[in-house]
Amino acid sequence: MPSPAAEDTFDFVIVGGGSAGCVLARHLSADPSCRVLVLEAGRPDFWWDVFIHMPAAFAFPLGNRFYDWGYRSEPEPHMAGREIYHARGKVLGGSSSINGMIFQRGNPLDYEAWAELPGLERWSYAHCLPYFKRMETCADGEDAYRGREGPLVVERGPAKGRLFDAFFEAAQQAGHGLTDDVNGSRQEGFGRFDRNVRRGLRWSAARAHLHPVRHRKNLEVRCRSFAQRIVFEGRRAVGVEYVRAGKVERVTAGEVISCGGAINSPQLLQLSGVGPAPLLRGLGIDVVQDLPGVGENLQDHLEVYVQHACMRPVSLAPNFRWRRRPWVGLQWLAGRGPGMTNHFEAGGFVRSRPELPYPNLMIHFLPLAIRYDGTTATRGHGYQLHIGPMLSDARGTLRIRSADPAVPPALRFGYLSTEQDRREWVEAVECARTILGQRAFADLDGGELSPGSDVHTSEEILDWVAREGETALHPSCTCKMGHDELAVVDPDTLRVRGLEGLRVVDASVMPTITNANIYAPVMMIAEKAADAILGRKPLAPEVAALTGAGL
Ligand SMILES: Cc1cc2nc3c(=O)[nH]c(=O)nc-3n(C[C@H](O)[C@H](O)[C@H](O)COP(=O)(O)OP(=O)(O)OC[C@H]3O[C@@H](n4cnc5c(N)ncnc54)[C@H](O)[C@@H]3O)c2cc1C
Repeated sequence: MPSPAAEDTFDFVIVGGGSAGCVLARHLSADPSCRVLVLEAGRPDFWWDVFIHMPAAFAFPLGNRFYDWGYRSEPEPHMAGREIYHARGKVLGGSSSINGMIFQRGNPLDYEAWAELPGLERWSYAHCLPYFKRMETCADGEDAYRGREGPLVVERGPAKGRLFDAFFEAAQQAGHGLTDDVNGSRQEGFGRFDRNVRRGLRWSAARAHLHPVRHRKNLEVRCRSFAQRIVFEGRRAVGVEYVRAGKVERVTAGEVISCGGAINSPQLLQLSGVGPAPLLRGLGIDVVQDLPGVGENLQDHLEVYVQHACMRPVSLAPNFRWRRRPWVGLQWLAGRGPGMTNHFEAGGFVRSRPELPYPNLMIHFLPLAIRYDGTTATRGHGYQLHIGPMLSDARGTLRIRSADPAVPPALRFGYLSTEQDRREWVEAVECARTILGQRAFADLDGGELSPGSDVHTSEEILDWVAREGETALHPSCTCKMGHDELAVVDPDTLRVRGLEGLRVVDASVMPTITNANIYAPVMMIAEKAADAILGRKPLAPEVAALTGAGL
């Protein structure tokens, strides 16, 4: 192994300047006597980078090596053997610099379920709510559920126009209610959605948390620095070995905090000898700590697009023509126009069966028929619902294939592998069709583009989902908190079990995935972790919070 080219010492080394990493960098560097280093494998989120900062441009970084790790799953046996593409942010701000900016806390009962697990009593909704509030400034509405002074600005989509009107009307005609705030008083129902966008700019974790404190002399951020291994002395993590500009360098750390996300954190742990011993030994890696749960319990959300052609020229389709794009960009620079939106302005949460305790389907409506990668289903006008079950019981695995850090790990999600998952998928597609089939769309509907007229039976629907389903890009839960045999981190401290000087703080520590997009929960976890790491008294639980909250 090459000898380290440089040696420095920090109190905290944060591996990954992504969503959670930026939150920790801000909090941990607040004390000027504490030296903090952030190692980020990607490049900076340059101020001029329109593909990051313009909300409507979010499809561009996907699949681009300057922004995206570009993972692929192993062939998924229940998804027609497809290797599912998994974008992951590889840039300062991490996935929050390339994500869809949809801001969802999940259902309060998600956290109640966490709190029922042994050792997670302090992760109930009442314990999490003060941290959700602390991190945000909610531009709309003021009540007991929403924050007013946090660095992360969220504003609600306007969701205006003929197609949004038809959508809200159709949801009600299909028997669903409306809700004022899916992140506050009630998750169930349909309404305008929050997004982390402010005045037409993506409000990434880097913009909210890191850039305002970059001037601190005790905070250093090293981009294009790929951590390959955590260095141990006995059972204590004492540093990180990373590659920058082709050279292996090493830093010494009082504590190492892995914030690489749900794919890279377990990968880094396994590469460093922390994980399932048989896997590590098989690859010739010395075992520092046998933790069978590292890389297990992988969870995600899958989604499909139910798309319709639109008979009237009321969709956003014209803005996506190449010849219009310079005009969209110019308008955005002037602070207006279609470049200002992330497109996910409205949607809803629905129970696929009435007996369920809370809504298990998430729906987004777009006045446009377009896939995440920017490809459109029709050259004309269209609209669509994204839909998917949020609480699948499918569980997957992440395992390194080699001791070489450059080799991506093997990802197996197990999409559609369980009876519950398959049943809820059929219910989800039927639910979407019921909404889009309402009379509110009668004078707009130009016919279903997908799944299409030849997909009817449960088998046909599942076959279509297997061929067309895409990840909603929410991998999580691969280094879960807890005290059972698959638990990886301690729920109170987020320290890796059995080791000193090493914590994990990111999407991987969730025990189970939440009932919506997961960026907001990750940010909440990081806020709460910051207090634990600094030994600060946790915020007082807001016990009244469950009253009427999304139930
Ligand atoms: C394209 C896309 C769209 C999404 N849309 C939404 C959405 O609209 N709403 C929502 O709620 N969620 C969305 N998500 C999910 C959400 O953004 C993520 O779950 C969340 O941001 C994850 O945060 P994290 O801190 O766990 O990881 P990340 O934010 O991914 O941060 C990890 C960081 O660590 C760095 N890193 C990793 N390994 C190393 C290493 N070895 N050395 C150095 N640096 C390393 C990475 O480059 C990255 O910057 C989306 C995700 C993607 C990718």
